Amino acid sequence: MPDTELTSSATPPAPVTWPAGIKAAACLTFDIDAESAVLTADRSSIDRMSPMSHQSYGPLVGVPRILGLLERHGVRATFFVPGYTAHRYPSVVRAIAEAGHEIAHHSYFHENTIGMDVKTEAAMLDLGLKALWDVAGVRPAGYRAPMWEMNYHTPALLAERGFQYDSSLMDSDHPYPLSVDGGQVLAEVPVSWGLDDWEQYAFLPGLIGPGVIESPLKALEMWTLELQALHRLGAVFTLCCHPFLTGRPSRAEALSTLIERMKALPGLWITTVGEVAAHTMSLGLPPRSCPQPRLPSDAYWVTAKERTP
Ligand SMILES: [Zn+2]
Repeated sequence: MPDTELTSSATPPAPVTWPAGIKAAACLTFDIDAESAVLTADRSSIDRMSPMSHQSYGPLVGVPRILGLLERHGVRATFFVPGYTAHRYPSVVRAIAEAGHEIAHHSYFHENTIGMDVKTEAAMLDLGLKALWDVAGVRPAGYRAPMWEMNYHTPALLAERGFQYDSSLMDSDHPYPLSVDGGQVLAEVPVSWGLDDWEQYAFLPGLIGPGVIESPLKALEMWTLELQALHRLGAVFTLCCHPFLTGRPSRAEALSTLIERMKALPGLWITTVGEVAAHTMSLGLPPRSCPQPRLPSDAYWVTAKERTP
């Protein structure tokens, strides 16, 4: 007999319908991690001038370059900003908002949320909200977890705080309504590791990344193939870039070429994650869940400790 306790109640994601004339959507997103992504992994790096300068390149050089590029192309993007970045580079974050882009929540200190308890995660969310409000007068609609690490209790914390969407999960090509414990619903605009520049470019010995520096042509090829395939599916292309990585000159030029290719695709809606989330929620689709797996209680490899919920 199959163990029905183990059966996932998740339903496969369904395609969404888009506004008239639209075939698929594309979101350019920029995570302004700056120093926080390194400091959270190794706080002693605060004394290392060179790695800190590598991270500050993002807000100081990458963001202005990317803002210019987006303006030339006439497209809006979503910037996910840790509260610590807002406090450290307030004029940069205000410039992003003043240019008409969406600012969304990306933790306070790019904290490692794996195993983080509810109370600590709630405090982190509130600190990040306060920072974005104090610095830029922004109450964000959206959230992206640091390193895309959601806990099963995170969606309820987001819903309690009035967030409308998350963009950290990976179980769909299409955006969808995510059911939250307590009967609330968030929009989920999914991500995928293949559409993240970290895996292509992150190199900072001993601190971040797999230690590779790929050619921007390779990244452009990968992202173009995924863009074209998602466009054919009528899905959403969500690219995640970090200004300290993609803000470098030849990488920014590759991103510009990608945007030209996006603009050439018929019926591709290039917009913010917030717009895609709001559209998704307007469709009245049945919410999906992302149920936590359970361990078989009688398997020889499950320890007594793991059997206790
Ligand atoms: Zn990040």
